[in-house]
Amino acid sequence: MGKTQHPGPQKKAKLPAPKYWVSPIPFGLGKIKPQHIRDTMKIAWDNKDNIGYATRIITKGVCDGCALGVSGLYDQTLDGPHVCTTRLNVLRLNTMPAIHPEILHADIDELRKYDSTELRKLGRIPYPMIRRKGERNFSRITWDDAMDLIADKMKKLEPKQYAFYLTARGITNESYYVAGKVARFLGTNHIDNASRICHAPSKTALKRSIGVGASTSNYLDWIGTDVLLFWGSVASNSSPVSSKYMLEAKKKGTKIIVVNPYREPAMDQYWIPSNPESALFGTKLADDFYQVNIGGDIAFMHGIMKHWFDMEEKAYGSAVNHEFVEEHVNGYEELKKKVQEQSWEDIIVSSGVSKERIIELAELLANSKNAVYAWALGLTMHSFATDNISQVANLALLRGHLGRKHAGLMPFRGHSSVQGSGEMGADPFVLPGGGWDGNNVERIEKLWGFDLPEWQGDIVGVTLENIVLPEDHERKVKLYYLSGGNFLETMPDPDFIAQSLSELEIRVHQDIILNTSTLVDAKEAVIVLPAKTRYEQEGGGTSTSTERMVYFSPEITGNKNMIEEARAEWKIYLDLAKRVKPETAHLVDFKDGQAIREEIAKANPDYDGIQHLKKQGDVFQWGGAWLCEDGLCPTPDGRGILIPVDIPDLNKKPEQFIVTSRRGKQFNSMVYKEVDPLNGAGRYDVLMSPVDGQKLSIAEGEGIVVYNGFGVFQGTAKFVDIAQGNLEVHFPEGNFLLPRGRYEKFAGIPDYNITVNVEKAERYNARKDTQYLEKPIADLETEVG
Ligand code: SF4
Repeated sequence: MGKTQHPGPQKKAKLPAPKYWVSPIPFGLGKIKPQHIRDTMKIAWDNKDNIGYATRIITKGVCDGCALGVSGLYDQTLDGPHVCTTRLNVLRLNTMPAIHPEILHADIDELRKYDSTELRKLGRIPYPMIRRKGERNFSRITWDDAMDLIADKMKKLEPKQYAFYLTARGITNESYYVAGKVARFLGTNHIDNASRICHAPSKTALKRSIGVGASTSNYLDWIGTDVLLFWGSVASNSSPVSSKYMLEAKKKGTKIIVVNPYREPAMDQYWIPSNPESALFGTKLADDFYQVNIGGDIAFMHGIMKHWFDMEEKAYGSAVNHEFVEEHVNGYEELKKKVQEQSWEDIIVSSGVSKERIIELAELLANSKNAVYAWALGLTMHSFATDNISQVANLALLRGHLGRKHAGLMPFRGHSSVQGSGEMGADPFVLPGGGWDGNNVERIEKLWGFDLPEWQGDIVGVTLENIVLPEDHERKVKLYYLSGGNFLETMPDPDFIAQSLSELEIRVHQDIILNTSTLVDAKEAVIVLPAKTRYEQEGGGTSTSTERMVYFSPEITGNKNMIEEARAEWKIYLDLAKRVKPETAHLVDFKDGQAIREEIAKANPDYDGIQHLKKQGDVFQWGGAWLCEDGLCPTPDGRGILIPVDIPDLNKKPEQFIVTSRRGKQFNSMVYKEVDPLNGAGRYDVLMSPVDGQKLSIAEGEGIVVYNGFGVFQGTAKFVDIAQGNLEVHFPEGNFLLPRGRYEKFAGIPDYNITVNVEKAERYNARKDTQYLEKPIADLETEVG
């Protein structure tokens, strides 16, 4: 049977639905809400010097904001225009002029006075630059000199001593593919990408549970499913147009359930700018919230399944879809045993949710023919993240909620193009079209015409730690080649990251803008290379959305603020290859973007079709409308696997809290507003329950200190509706509380959650000299799970 194909955009419901309005008073007057109209006017003003080009990007390009995916103003889910302020906020990166030379070549300490937001606003990197050891300023350098310097250094190093990293900043599949291929051609497997710090566990977990590491569903499946479950995701904030789909889903009777410690205002109610009804009156999104403890999701899901097995005792088939399980799933008895071993007491303590409430959701799902399970970083950024997500897959497999209309598993990706990074092979564990297993290595070696390095490459966190290894260690990383990214603002333990970045002999920043990490010293030189944006890339480029749509974004000409010396990213990698290994560089050469797409189609059979994408609006979805269609999973025996997992021990003492981070008005670490318009929180506000505040005699707005053995966060108490014992601080400001070296054991993502103590600032500051500093640090240290 052939795979069902996505039907393309559907018509929206015509009638308004006042029952979902937030308020009959237009524009949410008097409420804390995003100011979309005002923001849009401001963005238009910011782009006024290049407004024609800005308009062409919006109307012709594929959005370089989030991974929801849209080409021009139209998506594949609903008819009608599609645009949001996230897209408009990143627009200026593509339209702004170069940084003024006086600022660019100022003393490095002058540049260091800017934070990343200010550096971004300075403008684009105009030409290659270098700052050698001891030099106080960046100086201009030719492309030839810059590339020779990098190549000469690489020739002197062993391939295990250099590493590549690519962020998700609008990078195209073509650039990921060439980077992955060139890294292996040069002999290194140290290549990693931004999904390592956001969604790598989704891929790993889905691969082991259902045989394929991508969303099995489409956004269209949301519209009319019985239950749409968001787990640790604020989809309406990270991908604002998703709220438009949610509204359509509600009009078709879908119940939206959110599982999250904090009752996120944006999932509660939202004003959707591209939907007139919602823009005026707002939309109530979630039907219900389950405020689970940070790290309590596995227990919560054990509770759901425990009740399902109790229901089964009373009435066979009342909860489990036995027909689906018998035909398509392994591991039923093992999972059942594991679930039944869990006591309700442990489940309630770990999850923080009462038995009655868990039963409510269990019964809702048991009575739902269909459900879509979507999740994001609330599940992935843990040291047990792969287990978190396999546990979600366990729910879907037991209910048969997989591989058909209105049913499936959906990792909700962050940035445009991040889905394609691993699928193109820019990842230490995979190659295009598969993993590092013998067959795939042999296949790729045959296609590429050279031998691949045989050793396992390191994940990004480990390569950063390996910079400070002893001089003679074979894995001491001495050169880091970065395409975008700012580890100072994305990795745990920023102080260590600053130290390790400065220990590199050569650091290359291939980027559009400066950020704080570009300004860190290096032992020999920091080299900065100006990259083209995705819209300037000759011959266009492709990116893959959350729902596996591969969109073609054409080259868009007419940039009045064109950076003459900027180069397409894939071309820079090819140049590097030619300089390091000139004799064999023809093996990695491509004459244009089309040639790369032709090869991608062979290297990754899922992408067969990418070679036909040539003009604006061209798109195809790899894998068809649903992966695991009709329950047939791409595992060796075609069956999904139920995986028993344990409730993690967070080593939290009763008086301690668990803290996690959240995004405000920002895009990854790029902050657009100091105050989150959704809840009024400032960047240093600590979101906490008023009940916890009362216990600690902390008043709203009072200075507090959140601390552990690794760091101290001085902030202000903000009382919100969050589960007791849990705190949220903003990312990346809260990263100082996180130690380095805590990785998820299957997918290598750093753990971004940790136990902390909380105290009034005046009390902490008065006592710290006499008490904390005199105490051995071990007494303050928090056990790390
Ligand atoms: S929702 Fe995402 S894909 Fe759509 S316009 Fe906004 S940032 Fe772009």
